[in-house]
Amino acid sequence: MLNVDLHSHSTVSDGTLSPEEVAQRAHAHGVDVWALTDHDEVEGLAPAQKAAESLGIQFIPGVEVSVTWLDRTVHIVGLGIDYSNPDLIQALSKVRQGRTLRAQRMGERLKELGIEGAYEGALSYATNPELVSRTHFARFLVDHGHSKNMKEVFRRYLGDNKAADVPMQWATLEESVQWINDAGGKAVIAHPGRYKFTEQQFDLLYQQFKEMGGVGIEVVTGSHPEREYAHFAAVARRFGFEASCGSDFHWPRQGRMDIGKAPPLPRGLTPVWHDWVL
Ligand code: AMP
Ligand code: MN
Ligand code: MN
Ligand code: MN
Repeated sequence: MLNVDLHSHSTVSDGTLSPEEVAQRAHAHGVDVWALTDHDEVEGLAPAQKAAESLGIQFIPGVEVSVTWLDRTVHIVGLGIDYSNPDLIQALSKVRQGRTLRAQRMGERLKELGIEGAYEGALSYATNPELVSRTHFARFLVDHGHSKNMKEVFRRYLGDNKAADVPMQWATLEESVQWINDAGGKAVIAHPGRYKFTEQQFDLLYQQFKEMGGVGIEVVTGSHPEREYAHFAAVARRFGFEASCGSDFHWPRQGRMDIGKAPPLPRGLTPVWHDWVL
């Protein structure tokens, strides 16, 4: 059975391992087919590809695009993209643009809550200064004893609409699918179980995504409990989506799934990698 992991992060976004180190960890965990999917940035893909090839891993270039749909954040993973595509590079750079101002505002909110130095602290964890994310704030808050773990940070401060959350207007769903398709990739809805939509809203998301040219949905992901896999397998069958599988690895011992540790897809689904892996 092929070990496929098509969702992971490096220091290029909010992971803690370099692209090469993620490749090495994937290899050590027996991954055969691997995608690096950093948030809103493709910088890590060239070094990741080089490392993967030298380790004998099949590499699928990826990206995880931040999208705002019905006033909520949705993540769309692009797989099999041409990461030298100038329009994609340009578009992602625009998506990243608001992050610095947002991070400064988050720092101010936290200051009002009695936590000093959070912006500078978060920045010190970010390798890419254009990509300060809530994860970097969360690491600062945990390491400095303001919260006992990541879960509590998001529950108290950083989760959607919590005290220090600063909402963003990311890309539109349509743009994200277009950029990915124009770069020769496949658009996949990341970790659908994480979104707080009603059943009707979910159906609308799937329908619109499909009409826009989206092809896949993550069925097996480290961001969902296993009991939810069957539900999203049924969604994939109902909407004719291809199914993807990925750990959403950010760092070792994160508490979520480690890279290469995802169980196989449920039966009867078309894997999103079917025309890349022979
Ligand atoms: P941002 O793109 O700055 O909004 O940050 C989003 C990132 O925060 C996600 O990619 C996750 O890595 C992380 N994240 C979001 N919600 C949670 C949560 N409840 N627990 C842990 N990490 C989370
Ligand atoms: Mn992340
Ligand atoms: Mn995500
Ligand atoms: Mn992710």
